[in-house]
Amino acid sequence: MWNKPFEKLRRRMTCLYAAIFGALILVIVAAAYTFIWWEILAHEKENLVAQIYHEGEEWVESEEAPCSEAAIRSGKMLAYFVNADGSKVILNQLGTGEAGQELMSHKDDWPKKLNTSRLLRMQSANGVRYRYLAAVAPVIDGDKQVGRLYMFKNMEFYYHAAYKTLFLLLCMALILYFVACYFGYWLAERNIRPISNMYAKQQQFTADASHEMRTPLAVMKLAVQGLQEDEDSRLSDFAKESVNMLQSESERLSRLTENLMTLARSDENILPVYTAQVDITALCKKVASQMSLLAAEKKLQLKQEIQDNLVMQGDEMALSRLLIILLDNAMKYSSEQTQITLRVAKVKTHLVLEVRDEGCGISDDDKQKIFDRFFRVDKARSRSQGGLGLGLSLALAIVRQHGGSIKVLDNKPRGTIMYVKLPTTVK
Ligand code: ADP
Repeated sequence: MWNKPFEKLRRRMTCLYAAIFGALILVIVAAAYTFIWWEILAHEKENLVAQIYHEGEEWVESEEAPCSEAAIRSGKMLAYFVNADGSKVILNQLGTGEAGQELMSHKDDWPKKLNTSRLLRMQSANGVRYRYLAAVAPVIDGDKQVGRLYMFKNMEFYYHAAYKTLFLLLCMALILYFVACYFGYWLAERNIRPISNMYAKQQQFTADASHEMRTPLAVMKLAVQGLQEDEDSRLSDFAKESVNMLQSESERLSRLTENLMTLARSDENILPVYTAQVDITALCKKVASQMSLLAAEKKLQLKQEIQDNLVMQGDEMALSRLLIILLDNAMKYSSEQTQITLRVAKVKTHLVLEVRDEGCGISDDDKQKIFDRFFRVDKARSRSQGGLGLGLSLALAIVRQHGGSIKVLDNKPRGTIMYVKLPTTVK
C-alpha cells in the first residue's frame, strides 16, 4: 500500500497519461477518417469528369443517353445536357423524382467552370436529405464544343460507408483508449514505485531514529533534572547555566522527536482513529484559558467565542494539541496589544474551529508552503520563538486523522485566520 501523496500522484499521472493518449487517439482517428474521405471524394470527382467525357463521346457517336432508365429511376446517376452557351436544354435526365426536383431547384449551386465538380447537399421540404456529387465537362464533336454535360452521382452510399467506418474507428479508439488507460496506470506505477520505495525507507528511518532517540533523551532529561534539583551540588554559576541550557535544548529535542514520530505515523496511515466522544466546548475552554495566561504575558488578548454543548468523536489529546498549535502560532506571530479570537461553532454536521489573529499575516505564496515540514516563513523569527517548522504539519496530520480540512485565510485588515472543519462523527 502506498502512502497518500504517492496514491494521489499516481492517480494524477494516470489521468494525465490517459488524457494524452485519448487526445492522440482522437487526433489519429480524425486524421484517418478525413484522409479516407478526401481520398474517396477526390477519386470520385476524377472518375465523374472522366465519365462525362466518355458519355459525351458516345452521345456524339450514337446519341446514346448518358444515364440508363434504371439509374434515373433509382436516382443513382442523373444527367443534364445543355448546348455550349447553356441557352438550350438538349437532354434532361433528372427524372421526375424528388431528387431531380431538388437538383433543379439548386441549379445555382451546380459547378460553373468546365471540368470541375462539387458536392451538393440538399434537403427536401419533407426533410429528406440528398447528397450528390455534381460535375460538368464539355461535349466535343471533332474540334467543336457542342454542349455541356452535367452529371450527378448519388453519394448516399459513400456517406453511409463513411459513417460506418467512423463508427468502427471510434469503437477501436475506445478499446485502444482503455488499453492506453491501463498502460498509463502501469507506466505511472512503474515510474513512481522507486521514488515511493525510497520515500518509505526515509520515513522508516525517521520513525526508527526518533523512536530510538526517546530513551536516551528521557535519561538525559532525568539526569539534568536531577542536577537541577540536587540541593547539595556545588556547581559553579557557569555550570548551572549550562545545565539550564541542556534542559531547554533536551526539551526542544524531545518535542522534535515526538513530532517527527507522530508525522511518520501519519504518513504510514497508522495514526489511531478514536471514536470516543470528546466534549469540545470544555476542551476548547480549558486550552483557551491555559493559553490566556501566556497571551497575557505577551500583552495579547485572547477572546473566546465557543458555543455550548459541542461534542465530536475523536482523539482528545490530538485535538488539544491542534488547538495549542494554532493558538501558539497566533501568539507567536502577533504583536503586542492585538487580539486573538478562538471561535468554535457547529455548522450542519461539522464543527468549525477558527483562530483569528491580527499579526503579520501570511503571503499567498507562503500559504501553499506553511504545511510543509520544516517550512518557516521567517526562519530567524520562528526559531527565536521556539518554532521548529513542524507545528502546522502536525496540525494538518491531526485534522486529516479526524477526516477534516484546514485552510489559511487572510484576516481583514491584517492577520491570519486558521479555519478548521471537522466532522462530528468518525466515518
Ligand atoms: P513554527 O514552529 O515555525 O511556527 P509551523 O509549522 O507552526 O512552524 O508554521 C510554519 C510557518 O507558518 C511559521 O514559521 C510561520 O512563518 C507561519 N505561520 C504559522 N502560523 C502563522 C500565523 N498565525 N501568522 C503568521 N504566520 C504564521
